[in-house]
Amino acid sequence: MALIVQKYGGTSVGSTERIRNVAKRVARFHREGHQLVVVVSAMSGETNRLLGLARELSSSPDPRELDVVAAAGEQVTIGLLAIALHDLGVKSRSYTGAQVRILTDSAFTKARILEIDDQRMRKDLAEGTIVIVAGFQGVDRHGNITTLGRGGSDTSGVALAAALKADECQIYTDVDGVYTADPRIVPEARRLDKITFEEMLELASQGSKVLQIRSVEFAGKYMVRLRVLSSFEDVDSQSPGTLITYEEDDDMEQAIISGIAFNRDEAKISVMGVEDKPGIAYAILGPIAAANVDVDMIVQNIGASGHTDFSFTVNRSEYRKAMAVLESQRGKSFEARDIIGDDHIAKVSVVGIGMRSHVGLASKMFKTLADERINLQMISTSEIKIAVVIDEKYVELAVRVLHKAFELDKGSHGPSA
Ligand code: ASP
Ligand code: MG
Repeated sequence: MALIVQKYGGTSVGSTERIRNVAKRVARFHREGHQLVVVVSAMSGETNRLLGLARELSSSPDPRELDVVAAAGEQVTIGLLAIALHDLGVKSRSYTGAQVRILTDSAFTKARILEIDDQRMRKDLAEGTIVIVAGFQGVDRHGNITTLGRGGSDTSGVALAAALKADECQIYTDVDGVYTADPRIVPEARRLDKITFEEMLELASQGSKVLQIRSVEFAGKYMVRLRVLSSFEDVDSQSPGTLITYEEDDDMEQAIISGIAFNRDEAKISVMGVEDKPGIAYAILGPIAAANVDVDMIVQNIGASGHTDFSFTVNRSEYRKAMAVLESQRGKSFEARDIIGDDHIAKVSVVGIGMRSHVGLASKMFKTLADERINLQMISTSEIKIAVVIDEKYVELAVRVLHKAFELDKGSHGPSA
C-alpha cells in the first residue's frame, strides 16, 4: 500500500465524461489498496474564462478579487469529482485550499506556499476516504483566498506530496510524459523514461510547458518522487510516463542531450551606444528591477571608443512596461544613442547533463543553425544548457533541425520497450 498524490490537469477534467474517467482511475488505485490524495485543476479554459470576466469589468482588477474569481474554477471540479466517486460507491471528500489549510503568503495571483496542515487529510485517509483538493489555491494568514500563478495546480500537487511524505506524486496530463521536444512540432520526438531533476528544471525554465517550474523546484527541495503520465490511457495498459530522478544512473550517462525546449514568451531590448563605464548595467537594469520586471538573458558587448551596446530579454507581457521605464530613465540614469525593442523573438534551448562531460556541443548547435541560415541574436549557457535567441519565425525549424542533429529521434535513453 502506498500513499499517492495524483494531480489531474484541466484537459483531464474538461467535461463530466472525463471527470467520470478520472473517478474510475482513482477508484481503481483505491481498490488496489492505495491511499489517495487527488488534486485537480479547473476544467480546461475555465480559468481563462473567469479571468476574462474580471477584465471585462476592469482593466486593472484588484488582485485580491481576481484570486477570489480565479479560484472558483477548481472549487467546481473538486465537488464534481467527489460526486462522480460517490456515484461509483467510493468514499471521498473535497476540500478547497483554505479548508485543508494550504497557507500561503499574501502575494495575490502568485502566492507561495508556506505551510500545509495535513491533519484533516490524514484523518480521512486513515478512514479509507479519498481526499480531493483544489489545486492552484491557498489561503493567507488573514483568511484571504490566494492563487499560486497560472499552472499552479502542479505545485499544489507536489507540495501536498511533500507535506504528506507521499510515496509518489503523479501528474496526469494530456501527454504521456516528458518528450525530447514538443511532439506537435517534432513528430519523431520520444518520451523519456526518466529525466534528472536538474534537466527537468532547465527544460521547464526554458519553456517546456509540461510542468510548472515552481512545482519542479518544490519537488527538488523535498526530493518528491515525481512522475508525469497521461490521463487518457487505459489504466490497464498505462505507459509508465516519465519519472523525475535525483540520481544520474548508468544509463543516463549515455544521453548527452535530453531535450530541446523553446519559448516565444520573451522580447528583446537593446540599449545602443551607452557609455562603457562602471555602473552602467545597474543604471539600466536597476529601474527595470524596481518596476518588478524580470530579466532573463543579458548581453553586453565590449565597447569601442568608450561606448557599448547592452541587450537583455524580458517576458513579452512586460515588454511595453520595460520600454516605457527605459524611455523615462534615458537622459536621467543613463545616456543612450537609441533604444530598440523586438517582440518577435524566440528562445531555443538544448538541455542535457551530458554537457558537463562532453565538449563541442555548442559548436554543433551553432553549425546546425548556421546551415539553415538562422541568425543567433543572443547566446547564453549554463552547465547543462545552451540557449539562443533567434527570429521567432524560425523557431519550429530550429527545434526540428536540432532534434535531428543531436539524434534525439534515435536516442539512447528512450522507451526501453
Ligand atoms: N486552473 C489554473 C490555470 O489554468 C491552474 C492550473 O490549471 O494548474 O492556470
Ligand atoms: Mg498545467
